Amino acid sequence: MKKLSLLFFLICNFCFFSFQSQAIAAEIVIPEKVSQGRGFIIAIKAQAPFTGYIEWRNKKIKFSSTNLNSQHETQVLLGMPTDEVKTQNIRISITENNQNNIIKQTIKPLKVNWVTHNLNVAPKYVEPPKEVLNQIAKDQKTNKATLARMSDTHTWELPFVRPVNGTISGSFAARRVFNGQPRTPHFGTDMRGAIGTRILAMADGVVVCAEPQYFSGNAVWIDHGQGVISMYGHMSKISVKKGDIIKKGQKIGEVGATGRVTGPHLHLSLYIQGVAVDAVPFFSQMPLEIIGGPTKEQPRPPMPKKQK
Ligand SMILES: [Zn+2]
Repeated sequence: MKKLSLLFFLICNFCFFSFQSQAIAAEIVIPEKVSQGRGFIIAIKAQAPFTGYIEWRNKKIKFSSTNLNSQHETQVLLGMPTDEVKTQNIRISITENNQNNIIKQTIKPLKVNWVTHNLNVAPKYVEPPKEVLNQIAKDQKTNKATLARMSDTHTWELPFVRPVNGTISGSFAARRVFNGQPRTPHFGTDMRGAIGTRILAMADGVVVCAEPQYFSGNAVWIDHGQGVISMYGHMSKISVKKGDIIKKGQKIGEVGATGRVTGPHLHLSLYIQGVAVDAVPFFSQMPLEIIGGPTKEQPRPPMPKKQK
């Protein structure tokens, strides 16, 4: 009979699972609570190579270990939706030395009070004219296919590179009212930058879309693997094309004011298996912050005084 002992530790906000048996020795770190709109890491370490998959919110994310400093390990990124209120089940299947283990756990979403923004844009971006409806439908179809991408390995590495240095002018998941009419929340972060400012890729990946889109303007979408996708919008110039392999920190375009904007800025979105999460916590050094409200917006810096 297989001897399996499960050691269960509860430290801070994380559950540490440690398996010990003749065939399996693995450590798995799973958070207990995650704020709405945050991405989080499932970290797995073992003495021998392993493979497996995570079941999370009706998605199956496969993984396999890499050998680092004679330790076998991997990390998988998952996301908590901005409007999730129910405790979610997570199920992890891990196979090591032909032995399989299943870990089940729950993760509780912590409620966030999102801010509301009233914005004024050109009327065509609130009530799009008939002639652009085909373009909007095409963009939606393309973006849906992009967000459904799911590979078995990833190319991202934490922390991510901040794409532009500019401060935050529009925070993640703000409820938005355009010209007095409510629209979908802001599933991204707006960062200040003058037209022409270099935009850098947050992580290694492959360009899966690089084209003008109606609302996002000139947009670049990069697949970082295992359903992790970054998107950069409103560019004045796109410097890459579909299919390009991108390195972390590589220039992919320049800040602009194309699409539905009130002025030049970078719109940055981060999706994890189709779930939009706040990208800003990913720019800081580890550990990744998984609890907290929306990233604060900084007021516009004062304009330099005109010289007489
Ligand atoms: Zn935006």
